[in-house]
Amino acid sequence: MDKIILLGSTGSIGTQTLDVCRAHNIEVTALSANSDTELLEKQAREFSPEYAVIADETLYGDLKRRLADTNVKVLAGEKGLCEIAALPKRKVVNAIVGMAGLVPTLSAIKAGNDVALANKETLVTGGKLVTDAVKRYNVKLLPIDSEHSAIFQCLQGACGNRFSKIILTASGGPFYGKTCAELINVTKEQALAHPNWNMGAKITIDSATLMNKGLEFIEAVWLFGAKPEEIEIVVQRQSIIHSAVEFEDGAVIAQLGSADMRIPIQYALTYPERSKCPAKKLSLFDVKDLTFGKPDEETFVCLAAAKRAIKKGGSAPCAVNCANEAAVRLFLNDKIRFSDIGEAVSGALEDVPFIENPTLYDLLNTQKAAEEYVSKKFSN
Ligand code: NAD
Ligand code: MG
Repeated sequence: MDKIILLGSTGSIGTQTLDVCRAHNIEVTALSANSDTELLEKQAREFSPEYAVIADETLYGDLKRRLADTNVKVLAGEKGLCEIAALPKRKVVNAIVGMAGLVPTLSAIKAGNDVALANKETLVTGGKLVTDAVKRYNVKLLPIDSEHSAIFQCLQGACGNRFSKIILTASGGPFYGKTCAELINVTKEQALAHPNWNMGAKITIDSATLMNKGLEFIEAVWLFGAKPEEIEIVVQRQSIIHSAVEFEDGAVIAQLGSADMRIPIQYALTYPERSKCPAKKLSLFDVKDLTFGKPDEETFVCLAAAKRAIKKGGSAPCAVNCANEAAVRLFLNDKIRFSDIGEAVSGALEDVPFIENPTLYDLLNTQKAAEEYVSKKFSN
């Protein structure tokens, strides 16, 4: 079994990844968090990694003090994240939230490490750079996002046959069926109550705006080399069918399972092997209904904007992603309304300067420009 470097170990995906590591005695040689030094210390004491990295450099002293009586080496900042991602011959699990995951992902790939990727913003913002690097350094990119893991699993038996369509399922989130008018003043608490999944705050808001499905649409384009018109989004309210692929002859292969991220996480860790998982198994007798519907892109404008962005290409997906990250932060801090998030994302597509073939430097500038656009838009 590969030794694991876990970026974002204190989050929802990070802690579930450690659950899988516990169940299979997988060795974890590095852990990282943004600011939760208390939980990072606890995890380091349990897993005895070689390294623990705190992304927020102001907390370096705190973490160093907490781990002073251990052999764990303490690093900080993006530099520290890139250093552990590049440790030789490891599998890097990227469970960071946001575009902050992009540079460490590139560092892992350039060091020849396979990457198990939960951090979808990596592919949304830097899809071309990342997929080019994956080819150049001949590494594997294993999806953790449940829908993309499902598609990846459905393609395992394809024997080189290309899909004719990817069917990307969506739960629809807590506001499925609501109108624009009903959405203007929904509260943070309502938006944070996802019907099927228990996740970090940012992705939970993204699921409520359907930006998450927009990000996943773009993620699928890069992971599977799909054209945007080959991806169909289907609302599957119960989150039992995690996605499907259709082939030329009309056969549709789907992946089903209980809504527990430990199944796709484990598959990315043990691929191509399968073994017992801590998640509950699905009994089809417990599934009362399986319903299907179309997403409402007029109400959920984030989804429409993300689709327009990938069709436009270049820096456009990065611009909408970063505008969304900035707007979600403002919403979670009670600074803007729920419906403002969609306005920020759609507006960024028009307003943030477009670059056809962005370098990493260009993408980081696009991030800055999108953040400035959002902060100016809501400054009064
Ligand atoms: P989370 O907020 O629960 O955890 C995020 C982790 O990243 C934490 O460990 C945090 O310390 C770290 N982090 C945050 N900002 C950072 C920064 N600037 N630099 C370095 N580290 C930072 O988020 P999550 O729900 O676990 O999601 C993580 C990623 O996985 C996201 O990209 C999300 O879209 C994706 N994802 C999550 C789920 C889920 O069920 N939670 C499902 C599919 C995909
Ligand atoms: Mg998903």
